[in-house]
Amino acid sequence: TDERLRAGRRAYDLDRSHVFHSWQAQGPFDPMTVLAAEGPYIWDGEGRKLLDMSSQLVNTNIGHQHPKVVAAIQEQAASLCTIAPQHVNDARSEAARLVAELTPGDLDHVFFTNGGADANEHAIRMARLHTGRTKVLSAYRSYHGGTQLAVNATGDPRRFANDYSAEGIVHFMPAYQYRSYFGSSTEAEETSRALRHLEDMITLEGPGNIAALILETVPGTAGIYGPPAGYLEGVRELTSRYGIVFIADEVMAGFGRTGRWFALDHWGVRPDLLTFAKGVNSGYVPLGGVAISDGVFETFRDRAYPGGLTYSGHPLACAAAVATITAMRDEGMVENADRLGRDIIGPALHEMAQRHPSIGDVRGMGCFWAIELVRDRATREPLAAYGGSSPEMNAVIAAMKSGGVLPFANFNRIHVVPPLNTPDADLRFGLEVLDEALSIADEYAA
Ligand code: PLP
Repeated sequence: TDERLRAGRRAYDLDRSHVFHSWQAQGPFDPMTVLAAEGPYIWDGEGRKLLDMSSQLVNTNIGHQHPKVVAAIQEQAASLCTIAPQHVNDARSEAARLVAELTPGDLDHVFFTNGGADANEHAIRMARLHTGRTKVLSAYRSYHGGTQLAVNATGDPRRFANDYSAEGIVHFMPAYQYRSYFGSSTEAEETSRALRHLEDMITLEGPGNIAALILETVPGTAGIYGPPAGYLEGVRELTSRYGIVFIADEVMAGFGRTGRWFALDHWGVRPDLLTFAKGVNSGYVPLGGVAISDGVFETFRDRAYPGGLTYSGHPLACAAAVATITAMRDEGMVENADRLGRDIIGPALHEMAQRHPSIGDVRGMGCFWAIELVRDRATREPLAAYGGSSPEMNAVIAAMKSGGVLPFANFNRIHVVPPLNTPDADLRFGLEVLDEALSIADEYAA
């Protein structure tokens, strides 16, 4: 309606006057206004409907405004909006029970945080106290959050400007077959060489100094490059052998995104700590957390844990998590994500790769896919440099938006990361829009 459009314009003006945005030069930033959202769709400031193939920041796993989750938040608000973390609260207890039940192995204790970055910060703190060691191994081409320690643990360009207090963080080269750091030509070679490199890093840094290894099970923003067969099992074996706490960052890959409740479930690997956020309640209310194994938990049985948050286990966020997990189970959303990946997204992207010379690589699972756009398939020269954008990538993104799709793009990649319950026909429409937009990239591909 006209009234809604006017309200949107006023919100835009106030935003530009007063809202300070993440990761932006504030001056030239021209944000999109969102007037409304429903399921996998959003409506922009001009009232145009866009299919959200980004799930926002890959967090709206159940889409927008799921009626059961909205109702659960309303009911919780009517009964109790907030309570300090030291008290027992039924929404919090139930959310913790569900997380303990869904996470693999003996990850049966849950420390709730406000989001993913602080979940990783607390996981690292727990690992340091548990081991009495300080160093932390973390992969290049990773993202672990925007707070100080989490951004230092991060291995992407967002770290560069924040690297003045890296406090014992040491980066290693990940297994990443498309641009192998180890000159591997097969998956088996990549696994064995990446593990040998990791063991060398442990030896050279001094195993007795290393508290934790933090790793995204399937790295997300850094490119959705799933681990080659045997890699995660090898990381688990090395960390166990050297007494290093294995922290699996499932903030983006967890809660159904890959077609399993946790990405780790594809490989049967059990970490000592698992961090989550985003999909736990689709971001309807901020929530993250650390799922803690019995072994790490024992350290804090008789010793105080020196950390906390006013909003740890916030009732509104936890009620949203309980309702989200319940809706995901009742509606088979995790199985559906698996099916969408196998039957629709994967086949469509692989078929596009046969027609579009700009597609260098296709990879993913469930509702978690990436394509790398290149200028030349032989050299794999990316369509935008690491850490940057390019007019060509911007043209592809603009074409998708004008075709009615909100994409997730990072450097030279387009990620296909829709809500797990996107209807098949809508998803096919989104993939057709991507297909058409890629003809722009093809003009620059050899
Ligand atoms: N870890 C991973 C893998 C992420 O993708 C993100 C966010 O994108 C984070 C941690 C940080 O989460 P938050 O932004 O909720 O602090």
